[in-house]
Amino acid sequence: MGIQSIEAYSVVLRYHEPFRIAPSTTVESHNVVVKVFTDFGIVGVGEASPSERVTNETPNTVLGVLDKIAPHLIGMCPLRIEQIVDTMDQIVPENPSAKAAVDMALHDILGKTARKPLFKLLGGFREQVLTDITLGIKEPKEMAEDAVKAVRRGFEALKVKVGLNPKEDFERVRKIREAVGSDVAIRIDANQGWTVRQAVKVLKELERFNIEFVEQPVSADDIKGLAKVRKNSPIPVMADESVHSPSDAIHAITAEAVDLINIKLMKSGGMLNAKKIAAVAEAAHVPCMIGCMGESSIGISAAVHLAAATKNLCYADLDCDILLKDKLVRKGGAQLKNSKRIPPKEDGLGILQLDEKLLGSPKKTYR
Ligand code: MG
Repeated sequence: MGIQSIEAYSVVLRYHEPFRIAPSTTVESHNVVVKVFTDFGIVGVGEASPSERVTNETPNTVLGVLDKIAPHLIGMCPLRIEQIVDTMDQIVPENPSAKAAVDMALHDILGKTARKPLFKLLGGFREQVLTDITLGIKEPKEMAEDAVKAVRRGFEALKVKVGLNPKEDFERVRKIREAVGSDVAIRIDANQGWTVRQAVKVLKELERFNIEFVEQPVSADDIKGLAKVRKNSPIPVMADESVHSPSDAIHAITAEAVDLINIKLMKSGGMLNAKKIAAVAEAAHVPCMIGCMGESSIGISAAVHLAAATKNLCYADLDCDILLKDKLVRKGGAQLKNSKRIPPKEDGLGILQLDEKLLGSPKKTYR
């Protein structure tokens, strides 16, 4: 089997409402969809949701990277994923979301060729995955209202965005905990918004609200600071922006900076490397979460498959397709049942139909 052609599409997906986190507010997600065509008639689909803040990528850099790598992939066997990922890495360093789109499409082809849903092919550890739903930063009272709505929709875990101002952050979490009661899991994400001193102080104060873990309390490159927070925090510390690759995971773990790691396909460069990070962390007894950026149900479905497949992906924050108003996937993809994500039973990623209007025509075709 060989790769015959590759198409790249530029898509804009609106959120239901502006989504605010410590460093920024987002109203729409600008993604790049990739279709990989094979000479066997099988087509794989993948998606990049680039983040300038996290991986220094934009839709334009993704298209630019595809210009460089796609011509080399024509004629290669799409099932040789490790070989293709290595080829991409040799042509262009970094740029993980661009590579993730290709990696995802290759995995889709793998599943379709094997006639199996990916989660079974990649390990099949569980049938469904418990996800949280994320509450963007608002006034404490509004966030408590959002929390109640989410719990009424069936969500059993809330990811609360904080990191603007420790005093208000305390109020946010206090009001939310009071509003939802003690049965709902609450995890918080500061997106690098606190100093080490602020983080330690506020985490000690927040302990009483039974917080599962805190994500990225301090600056991504401050691994020493992260270790200091972890040493003094009563709440387990998870790295997100600090860990993109298996090497980053080793670095953070050996620095004793993390209790947990948040893996995202858009940081790791795809499913292959995400699984490697999960394995590295598992060897060090560090449980992982799988999270997302601004993916539609294409990228989310890939993450749900991987989470279901992999033992050490113990937590999931796979909700972006729910937060987006524009639904790129019309048929198929991971389902949501209360707080559970269920991987599609169809072959590969299980994406059956895209919204052609949102997709538009290809921006680039490589053959
Ligand atoms: Mg995060």
